[in-house]
Amino acid sequence: MQYRSLGKSGLELSIIGFGASPLGNEFGEADEKESVRAVHYAIEQGISYFDTAPYYGRGLSEERLGKALKGFRDKVILATKVGRYDKNTFDFSAPRVRQSLEESLRRLETDRIDLLQVHDIEFGDREQIVSETLPALLELKTSGQVRAISITGYPLHHLKTVAEAFPEIDAILSYCHYNLLDTAMDDVLTPYAQEKALGLINASPLHMRALTQQGAPDWHPAPKKVIQKAREAAALCQAQGADLARLVMQFALQHPYVSSTLVGMNTVEQVKQNLATLEDATHQELLKEVKTLLAPVHNSHWTEGRPEYNDPGAVPKGS
Ligand code: NAD
Repeated sequence: MQYRSLGKSGLELSIIGFGASPLGNEFGEADEKESVRAVHYAIEQGISYFDTAPYYGRGLSEERLGKALKGFRDKVILATKVGRYDKNTFDFSAPRVRQSLEESLRRLETDRIDLLQVHDIEFGDREQIVSETLPALLELKTSGQVRAISITGYPLHHLKTVAEAFPEIDAILSYCHYNLLDTAMDDVLTPYAQEKALGLINASPLHMRALTQQGAPDWHPAPKKVIQKAREAAALCQAQGADLARLVMQFALQHPYVSSTLVGMNTVEQVKQNLATLEDATHQELLKEVKTLLAPVHNSHWTEGRPEYNDPGAVPKGS
């Protein structure tokens, strides 16, 4: 396993991170015992970075991850979030930030969080995020309760403007913006993160399961033509005895700057498959074919959060 610094935070992350939203049943019922085994296997193999949130399974992901990390807490960088509590429930106020951290510590059965992130900032008021939410996180960092602070979300320009307005953050987490369907992260966030030496997390490299043989879950927000093209890409790989998820992970892991590629997992087999991509030589011909197939829908964005914070050209979810 290789490790990279999360910007100037002093945290070192494994270049594959373990996304724990599937532990909250976000992609269908997860078997708890198998999820725990997956976490243990990941740690054994050198994965040191685990990401969860109160929102994932409304506390369930944190609870399951907490159980799995018993006895292993010192071996991992643990990240969770504040601000989002349900599909349409948000609270970015300072008192809720502090209360949320206490709740997360309890569910995760730990006394400290390494990386505390504001979850899906495009759903909050920018002014409040910058003048109230992030200062509350900074206070927690200054007092030693968390080691690093960050923002997460989907619209790239919005992430960048909030990062510019609050330069004390250590990192930015962007999702579904760097994989074989979308590379817009590199147009907007990567140059900025590099210039400021900020940590950069590339989450959802499998485009929230669209780029797998199994395909996207029903709730996937991408435009229908994107889901269709992803299905065709999976079929193309299968016809050649290859696995689309593997190809995508290889592509994502070659990113020169990203601190960690954060992939959601809940079985030992998935951890094995994703780790194996670190060793593989990329099938260049197939990669070219898949990129050509996906080119008509490349960088097709959907809307998230407040309309005014979305990137130009984003279309309504699932349209
Ligand atoms: P993802 O693209 O990582 O896909 C996860 C899905 O793919 C799950 O159903 C998983 O079971 C499946 N999978 C994993 N490896 C596979 C493999 N090798 N073959 C086939 N299927 C495989 O999407 P994600 O889980 O949404 O994103 C990763 C993590 O990033 C999340 O779990 C979460 O921790 C974080 N995240 C954060 C935000 C945010 O803060 N706003 C948004 C999205 C994701």
